Amino acid sequence: MVTNEPDPKTIVYFKNRYMPLGEAQVGILTHALNYGTGVFEGIRGYWNAEEESVMLVRPLDHYERWKHNARIPNIEIPASADALCEITAELCVRNGFTTDIYVRPLAFKSAQRVGVSPDETDAFAIVAMPFGVYLDSEKGLHAGVSAWRRVEDNAIPGRAKICGAYVNSALATADAKRSGFDEAIFLSENGHVAEGATCNIFIVRGGKLITPGASDNILEGITRASVMTLAHDMGVPVVERSIDRSELYIADEIFFTGTAVELAPVTKVDHRLVGDGTIGPLTRSLREMYHEAVRGKVRMYRHWVQPVMVHEPALK
Ligand code: PMP
Repeated sequence: MVTNEPDPKTIVYFKNRYMPLGEAQVGILTHALNYGTGVFEGIRGYWNAEEESVMLVRPLDHYERWKHNARIPNIEIPASADALCEITAELCVRNGFTTDIYVRPLAFKSAQRVGVSPDETDAFAIVAMPFGVYLDSEKGLHAGVSAWRRVEDNAIPGRAKICGAYVNSALATADAKRSGFDEAIFLSENGHVAEGATCNIFIVRGGKLITPGASDNILEGITRASVMTLAHDMGVPVVERSIDRSELYIADEIFFTGTAVELAPVTKVDHRLVGDGTIGPLTRSLREMYHEAVRGKVRMYRHWVQPVMVHEPALK
């Protein structure tokens, strides 16, 4: 069975070597654990049975984003993006994965002492695990605008996937679920739509695909970029601009994008139907194309995937 809680025997990369997840431990005074000073990533790999390979989705882009973002809290990731891709491929082989997977790279301030001022002690780990559906969006999601505002760039930059910033997402997600929604939509302090708690947001109005721009307190999502390319290649105009809350209520279609959520249709927002309450035609075609592309099945987007041929699990 595929769960999102990996087996402690799963081989991970930590302290410059491969080891079982159960041995990859940190102390309770670790700076990042106390103060949130880490930067993480999320990468998917899809099992392609015909090619007997795990298709890692845009791993180089994810690792480049990770290395860039880590500069914000001054965390050093000594390995190159290419070397990180190789470590990830090696994790797939060592674990003998033949399912869809999720990869969680985490870089953090690792000093073990009290005091918020960080030092130069940094560490990083990469965990890869079997992974199933994150949000079941087959029938469309019900999203709710959160009472929590998105963290501002001048408070904790949302573009950086900083661990501490995810308190913002966790608060909004918990409230959304308690209120019966599937996912929260964040507004920025200025009242414009920013993104979902764990994903970017798109609306369709008058045949145009619209999404908030990079300065609207969003994470510059890699799935967002992929979907913008797919839409552009289908001849659909794509506009990056601020979106008002009320536009959510009159949009023809709405969907979320993200590594974990994939392309998730939103059919209801704040108890109002989106369009006629069914999955819209543009959302449906983009979703189908995305599904094929990330499995390495579309020649035009084949460069998005790094295939990893998984043989028998190596001797451990
Ligand atoms: N926004 C937030 C807040 C997220 O956590 C994520 C997931 N990484 C995204 C957007 C989507 O980004 P990506 O497509 O790169 O996974």
